[in-house]
Amino acid sequence: MQPKKLIAHSRAIRPVMFMFCLALADPAFARVGGAGGHSSHSSSSGSGGGGGGFFFFTDSPVLNFLIIAIVVIYYIVKYLNKQSNNNETNSAAVPMTNAVPFPGGLDEEKVASSFLAIQDAWQRKDLKNVRKWLSDGMYQRLTTQFKMMNALGQSNVLSNISIERITAADTNTEGNYQTAEVAISFTMNDSFVCSKFPSLNESYQGDSDTEFWTFIKRTDAPNEKNLYDNNNCPNCGAPFEVKMGEISRCSNCNTLTNSAAYDWVLSEITQQDDYTGGAGMSNEQALATLMAGDPFFSAQRMEDIASNVFMQIMEVLSISDKKKLTRFADEPTVDAVMKYKQGLKPFVFDRLYLNSATLDNCDVAGDVVKLHFDLRCTYRRVSTEGRLQILDNDFVTTSFALELSRNKIVAQKAEFVYSHECSFCGAPYTDTTDDHCTYCDAPVIDIKKNWVLTGVTLG
Ligand SMILES: [Zn+2]
Ligand SMILES: [Zn+2]
Repeated sequence: MQPKKLIAHSRAIRPVMFMFCLALADPAFARVGGAGGHSSHSSSSGSGGGGGGFFFFTDSPVLNFLIIAIVVIYYIVKYLNKQSNNNETNSAAVPMTNAVPFPGGLDEEKVASSFLAIQDAWQRKDLKNVRKWLSDGMYQRLTTQFKMMNALGQSNVLSNISIERITAADTNTEGNYQTAEVAISFTMNDSFVCSKFPSLNESYQGDSDTEFWTFIKRTDAPNEKNLYDNNNCPNCGAPFEVKMGEISRCSNCNTLTNSAAYDWVLSEITQQDDYTGGAGMSNEQALATLMAGDPFFSAQRMEDIASNVFMQIMEVLSISDKKKLTRFADEPTVDAVMKYKQGLKPFVFDRLYLNSATLDNCDVAGDVVKLHFDLRCTYRRVSTEGRLQILDNDFVTTSFALELSRNKIVAQKAEFVYSHECSFCGAPYTDTTDDHCTYCDAPVIDIKKNWVLTGVTLG
C-alpha cells in the first residue's frame, strides 16, 4: 500500500549513502533537504529506478578518484547490505515488540479488514470505501500520492497479499483520545507500473515487512458502533453515501464519521525502521496541562493535522497553486513557501512518502500556543518537461519543520474538519479562493479559532 519499498531494508549503509548524496546529489536538492539527512534506499529485487545517477566529475583527478572510490564503496556496501537483508527477509515478519492486549472495540479482525481494504483502495487509487475510517491526515497522505502518481501515469499493483501476524504493540490514552499502535506483518507482490515512463517501473516479489498502524478513538465513543462491518452512518443509520472526498460526512445527518467519535480511525502508518515505540515529546505533560481546557486536543490529532498540512505544502511545491496554502497558513508563511517554490525547477514526485510526523515541543506566547513538528519524508523528484529526467539520483529522506499556532482555549462544541469548514459557524468552505466564510464572514485563517500554519522550514 504505502510505497513501503522506499524505506524498507535500509540499515547499515546510511553514513556511506550520506556521503554519496553529498558528492552526487542534484544541487537543487540540497536546498530541499535542509537538515541534511540521508538517503533511504530500496533494496530487494527491484528492476531499478531507471535513470542511474547524476555524476559530477571535476577537473581534479584526485577529486574524481575520490568520487569514484565513494561510488564503488557505496555499491559494495549496498550489495553486502542487500545480501544481509535477503537473509533477514524471512524473519522480518515477526514484529520486534512485545504485544499488549487490544483496547476495547479494536481487534485483529478489524485491523485485518482495514489493512486489506486499504491495500485494495490504494492500488485502485480510490478511497471511497475506506474514507469513513481514515483520518484527514491519512487521507491527505494518500491523496497527494495519487495526484503525483496520476501526473506520471503510475499505479501500484499489489497481489498475493497475505497477513502473517497482527499484534497490538502499544496503547495510550491522552485527554479524550485513545491511541493504539498495531504491528502488522505481511507479505505481498508489489509493482510500481508507470505507463508514461516505463523506466520508472519497479517490482518486488514476495516482499515481507512489518508496519505499525496507529488507530485513534475518543474515550467517550460508544463501543457497540462498528464502522468496519457495514456501510451505514454510525449516527443516523442511513446508508452511507460515498460522494465524500476530503470530508467524511453523512449526507443525511451531517455527522463526521472519521472524527474518532464512533470507532477506531486509522491515523498513521509507520514503517518498522521509523517506529520509535510511541515515544512522546519531552514536555508532553506540560502541554497536556496547557491544553486541558480543549476536549478535542491530543498530540496524535495534532500530528495528523501536521501531516495533512505538510502533504498539501508538498503538493503546492510540486503541481498545485498557492490557493491551497491560504486555507491554513498565515500570509508570511504562504509567501515564504511560494518564494521557495520559485527557486525550484518544476518537478513531480515520482515517490513521496511521509515517514513520520512528530510533535516535538511547544511554547506559549501570551494566549497563543505554538506547536513545533518534525516531519520526515522520503521522496524522489522527476522533471517531465520534454523528456523524463530524474532529479534525485536516489530516494531522499529528509526532515522538515512546521509550526502550528492557536489560542490556548477556543469555545468549540464539536470537532471541526481542519481547513475544510468554518471554525466559527461550521459551514463548509465553498469557494476555495475566499478568505472569509461565505455564511458568517469569519476569516478562514484565525488563530483565535483554529490552528494556523505560522512557520515552515523547507531547507
Ligand atoms: Zn447520518
Ligand atoms: Zn462561518
